[in-house]
Amino acid sequence: MNQPTMEQIISLCKRRGFIFPGSEIYGGLAGTYDYGPLGVALKNNIKNLWWKQFVLDRTDMYGMDASILMNQNVWKASGHVGGFSDPLVECKNCKSRFRADQIDASKCPSCEKTETFGPARQFNMMFKTTVGALEDADSISYLRPETAQGMFVNFKNILDTFSPKLPFGMAQIGKAFRNEIAPRDFIFRVREFEQMEIEYFVDPRNEEVINQTFESLYEEQLRFIESIGISKEKLHKIEVPDGDRAHYSKRSVDTEFDFPFGQKELLGLAYRTDYDLNAHSKASGASLDYFDEETKERFTPHCIEPTFGVDRLVLAVLSDAYKTEGEGDDARVYLDFPPAIAPIKACVSPLVWDDNGNVGKRYRRQDEIGTPFCVVVDFDTLGEHPELLDTVTVRDRNTGKQDRVAIKDLEAYISERVK
Ligand code: ATP
Repeated sequence: MNQPTMEQIISLCKRRGFIFPGSEIYGGLAGTYDYGPLGVALKNNIKNLWWKQFVLDRTDMYGMDASILMNQNVWKASGHVGGFSDPLVECKNCKSRFRADQIDASKCPSCEKTETFGPARQFNMMFKTTVGALEDADSISYLRPETAQGMFVNFKNILDTFSPKLPFGMAQIGKAFRNEIAPRDFIFRVREFEQMEIEYFVDPRNEEVINQTFESLYEEQLRFIESIGISKEKLHKIEVPDGDRAHYSKRSVDTEFDFPFGQKELLGLAYRTDYDLNAHSKASGASLDYFDEETKERFTPHCIEPTFGVDRLVLAVLSDAYKTEGEGDDARVYLDFPPAIAPIKACVSPLVWDDNGNVGKRYRRQDEIGTPFCVVVDFDTLGEHPELLDTVTVRDRNTGKQDRVAIKDLEAYISERVK
């Protein structure tokens, strides 16, 4: 089965109310998208499954929802004010700007003139804003570029209120903002997006346990993405080499996915060591140590961070689920979502005498939004054949096969299949 094109995905998303371009009636705003009713349902289902697997079903995880705006010193200490930047180049001829590492700088991709770029300069990707009525150096804040720091600065609160024993994790789902130089590929690279992140703290004295924890968190990441229907064959494990890793990471494994526009990062896993807790402890003066009751030792835990981009997961799920079958008038498009993430689980409709043509159309419309079951109430339901009284047909989205199910068993039939 062929991959859909990005045009097919974007068009279906707009046509059927999954995702719209941001601020569309004003001509849009680059790098922003708005989720419509079906998109938000899909996204919420993915986030809820994530929360269930990583927070509710575990006893070692503490959920969080930190503020987007934080004290500017957080971002100075974390290294973002000084270093969260991408290399920017500008074409001297047409003034277009590009990320230097994403283009061949000998020729401008926009005006096609050669040798028009000067040297790259670092462009900080944080959105700056001011907090309060006074605009001065003290009122500067930023829209957070990652959710992670909201957890590091609450580490002490979790220790003080819950006294967790190592290893334990903090988890959060929330918005992040990056003023990307070149937003592109629909919701893959946007300026406002959502992350699901975990900061998992481990005892730094046992390297073997750290390595095992890293591996098991990687396995958990895979288990999650497979549970939302992403095919194993389209995933690639990338051990990020020295030199390419973020400054805080001792080891990073990215999971890349075969998007319609190529193999690109979907998720990350990074061993951040004690970099963040140390940096915040030093800058804030707060002690961010852990006291081991058994050995009576005090130390700074190390941290392993699994990170997921919600929007990239939505795009991966859509592109993997998009299936085309048949040709010409018989062609149909369906989204092969696992029932658990489908925005609508079942469509119930009546069948009337002159409706034979339309029921097919109704099925096609539901197929296109990935509804796994179509329930039809027909004349047999009303007792045309007495033995079928109070039964309905249930059509399966993928196979088109229809089952006759008693109304009293319908809830159980569907619940069983959408778990
Ligand atoms: P990239 O190299 O693609 O810019 P990154 O390595 O900077 O990504 P991280 O800082 O590791 O990304 O961010 C964690 C996750 O957040 C990524 O794996 C991705 O899923 C998501 N993400 C990052 N930037 C964006 C963006 N601009 N739009 C949508 N999702 C993003």
